[in-house]
Amino acid sequence: MHKLYSFKKVKKILIATNNPGKFIELKEILPRKIKYFKPKDFKLKEPIENGRTFKANAKIKSLYAAKKTGLICISDDSGLEVDALNKRPGIFSARWAGPSKNFKIAIKKIYNLLKKKNKFNSKARFVCAISIAFPDGKSFEYQGKIEGNISFPARGNKGFGYDPIFVPKGYSKTFGQISKIKKNQMSHRFEAFQKVKKKFKFS
Ligand code: IMP
Repeated sequence: MHKLYSFKKVKKILIATNNPGKFIELKEILPRKIKYFKPKDFKLKEPIENGRTFKANAKIKSLYAAKKTGLICISDDSGLEVDALNKRPGIFSARWAGPSKNFKIAIKKIYNLLKKKNKFNSKARFVCAISIAFPDGKSFEYQGKIEGNISFPARGNKGFGYDPIFVPKGYSKTFGQISKIKKNQMSHRFEAFQKVKKKFKFS
């Protein structure tokens, strides 16, 4: 049987993301008694994400932050894979929104590319890799996903990023229309976190 790491005595964790949507969702999944820090609290720069997979990029972010701060760090690298676009934007999901991080631009880009193929409701999935890193250089990565379809026009303002154009399998509403609580009980982030909980004991 593998070793179960206990977080019972852990009082501080840095959530290594500058994305407010992800920060909120991760904090909601994690135990309440821990104090959570953001990269800004330590004036951390963003490391170069040159990994080729979600897990590799999550690891780059959590290890960078853990080494710089001496804290246990959790990061999330995630994105949307659209089948009709050969799984793009994938690990480039954030980058498709440009330097201003405007997801209306990224959604329009997906719309235009799907229009060319006449496949507006392509199958798609959100993928999330969570990495937990320790200051000594150890890290652990877990991945979750949720299957669904792309749907235009964009609907709802409850989520972030690509939520308004993603309909999870078995639903008619987009993630932008589904409540945060419900999304957090079925999302790619939630699934990755279920795997985290098999290795780390939080209470
Ligand atoms: P990165 O992991 O910081 O490279 O960024 C991943 C990008 O994927 C985010 O900026 C979002 O646009 C998108 N993304 C990841 N998870 C979600 C989600 O739960 N809803 C909507 N968009 C997401």
